[in-house]
Formats: sequence, structure tokens, C-alpha cells
Amino acid sequence: MRKATIAMKRTWSIGERIFRDNFSRRMKAFDSLVGSVALYGAEVWGWQEEGRLDEIKRRYVKWILKLDRNTPNYMLIEETKMKELRIQAIRRAIKYEEKVNSSKKKLIKECIKDLERTRPRREEGGWEKKRRELLEKAGSNKERTRENREGEDKETTEKIMERIERKDKEDRIRKINESNYNKEFKRIRTEETPKYLKGNKKKKDRELIARFRCGNETKGRQYWTEGEDRRCRLCGGEEENLSHIIDECGATRNELTIEEFLEEEGRGLEEMKKIDRLRKDIVKETEKV
Ligand SMILES: [Zn+2]
Repeated sequence: MRKATIAMKRTWSIGERIFRDNFSRRMKAFDSLVGSVALYGAEVWGWQEEGRLDEIKRRYVKWILKLDRNTPNYMLIEETKMKELRIQAIRRAIKYEEKVNSSKKKLIKECIKDLERTRPRREEGGWEKKRRELLEKAGSNKERTRENREGEDKETTEKIMERIERKDKEDRIRKINESNYNKEFKRIRTEETPKYLKGNKKKKDRELIARFRCGNETKGRQYWTEGEDRRCRLCGGEEENLSHIIDECGATRNELTIEEFLEEEGRGLEEMKKIDRLRKDIVKETEKV
């Protein structure tokens, strides 16, 4: 895990030097330089749902987009459409079992048969438990997996994966709909990768759009802090949320709607830059005093 962290940091700084303006290339760089190394052996541990690897990947993506550390994971994943290593590890593990299962070797067949036998839960090992839970989450189970395999159903892996991914997405959307951190996100969420993340775009611009879309640039989201701390940094009047910034605030009021301001191509970018500039000026002013 330490190695994966080091590889991640190295990949990040290489990216800063040679393709800082290209988000998708930086994601690919991670997958080939860190992901493939980290997934080595996933056939064996894939059922453990290795969450720590994904923590490293999420940290990487947050660094690239300069998102706050406390940006909720469900939103980060939904916004960037990043592929979780956990999913890739599970896919490898299922594929591996499939391959082993079609082996002609007697010893291997015995092992698989034993694994797929129904047995009391208290006799399950840790790994077996994870495997069962995941299959159940995917709406499948041992019996069904076995039947599918015996029926020479070649699509078993893909079907199971599809169900796991669909379930994951449903969970994310539910969290997004209930989100206190960012109430606007449910209205601006895209099905495909948002356009501002594609191709080349100035790193600073991309970061600003990502931060606004993910709710990092409004203090009103800090529902855990006192009212005072949630006030607009520019006029000090109301709570700093998007409807204040766009419709009410004397300093930043503009013609866009919230949806237009946040939309995926970055139509709100000029206004975002202006807000950012004004806020930085205020910080400079207070530092002078
Ligand atoms: Zn204001």
C-alpha cells in the first residue's frame, strides 16, 4: 500500500509537468502506472473489496482537480466517472474463478466444489463471507453462479459486474439526492463525463469549475458550522449559497441561472473567475491591515 502511495505521488508530479491541462490523460496515467501494479494479485484478494487502493485513487483525483479533502466520495465518483479499483479487482476475481472452474484438473475441481457448497454462515471464512455478500448485493448467489457456469453461460462475469455497478450507482444517486453538502448537484449531474473534463483545458479553469460544481466554493454548505461562518465572504450579508451569489449578492449578481452557471461546458467560468478574484482581493486587504 505504501508502494501504491509513492507511485501515486510520482504519477501526480509527472502529470503536473507534462500534461497538467489534460484530465483524461492524467486518469489514464494513474490506471497504467498505479492501478495495474496495485491490482497485481487481485485474482486472489479481489473479494476483500480492497478499499484502501480506492482511497489513494480518490486522493489523486482530488489533487488533480484541487477539490477539498472533505468532498463526498459519492459526488466525486459521479462527477468524474472515475473507475473504482475495487470494481476492477472484483471483476478479475470472478473471471479467475470462472477460468479455474473450467479447468480439467481434478484437485482444482474439488476445491471449487467445496467453495460453492452451501454451508452454515458461522463456518465461513472471512474471504468467503465477502464473496457471498458481494454476490448477494449483485442479486446473485452461489447456486446461481454455479448454475450459470454449468450452463456454459459465458456472460456470467459481465452480468454479475453489471448488477454490482448498477447497485453502486443507485446508492450514489440516493446520496446525491439527500446531500446536505451540495444541494445543487442533483440538478447538474451528467450521465457521461462532463464536457469540461474532456480534452485540453487550462488547469486553473478546470479546477474552478470542478470546485463550484462540487460545492467547494460556497460556505453555506458547511452545515456543521455556525451561521456566522457561513455568511457570504463578499458582502457579509446572507448565507453564502449559489442563489445568494447569483441572484442577490451586490458584488456578484449576474444574469445566469444556477443551472447555467454550473453547466458542464463551463458557461459560468467568467463569473466564477470574477468571484474568485474578488474573494482573493478581500483576503489580501485583510492581510494588509
Ligand atoms: Zn454576498
